[in-house]
Amino acid sequence: MTVITEEQLGNPAIYQYLLKLVGEEGLELLRRWSDISYARRWVEEKLSSEDLKAADKARFLAESKRSDEELIEAERSDEEIAEITGINLNSVRHTLYNLYEHRLAEYRRIKNNETGWLTYLWLMRMDHMNMVLRNEMEVAAGKLAGRLRYDEANDFYQCKNCGITTTFNNAMMTNFACPQCETMLVHFDDELIVAALKKRLAKMQTALDNA
Ligand SMILES: [Zn+2]
Repeated sequence: MTVITEEQLGNPAIYQYLLKLVGEEGLELLRRWSDISYARRWVEEKLSSEDLKAADKARFLAESKRSDEELIEAERSDEEIAEITGINLNSVRHTLYNLYEHRLAEYRRIKNNETGWLTYLWLMRMDHMNMVLRNEMEVAAGKLAGRLRYDEANDFYQCKNCGITTTFNNAMMTNFACPQCETMLVHFDDELIVAALKKRLAKMQTALDNA
C-alpha cells in the first residue's frame, strides 16, 4: 500500500509528524485521497456528467472497472487529486511538495505529444513512513549526542542575578564577573542536565533499535 492506512493514522507518532508537516488540511487530504468512497464518487460524477468527452468516457469507464486498490493507488495529477478530495488546488500542491521533500510522495512527468504540456502524476508513498521517521529520529539523536558531548566537555558558570550561563573559558575572559551586571559568576553544576540528556538519548536509541 502506498496510500495512508487506518493503522498509520491511529499511530500517535505518525499522526503528530504528519500534522507538523502538512497541517490539518493536509491530513484531511491524505485521508480523503486514501478513502475509496471519494474515488468512486469522483468516477461516477465524471461518467454522469453531460459534457464528458468521448475520449474521457472510455477512460472513466475503465476507471470504474478497476478494483478498490487499483483505483486508490493510481497515479493522479494534482488537479485530479483536488477534484477527488474537494480540497483546493493550491493546498493540494502545497501538501504534495511538502510530502515530496520528505519522500512521502513522488511524481512522474508526462509530456503531451500534441500540446507539449507537461503533466505531473503523483503517488503517495506512505510505505516510506517508517524509514522517514527512523531518519528523523537518527538526526535528533545525533543532535542530542552533540549537546551531551558539549555539556560533558565544559564547565559552566552562572550569574544568579540575570540567570545567564557561560563556559569556563568565557567566564575567565571577564574574570568571572557577569558580562551584563558584573555580579560574580558561580559554578553551575550541570550533572542533572547531563543525566537527563543521557536518559533521553538512551530512550531514543532503544526506540531506534526496535524500529
Ligand atoms: Zn548578571
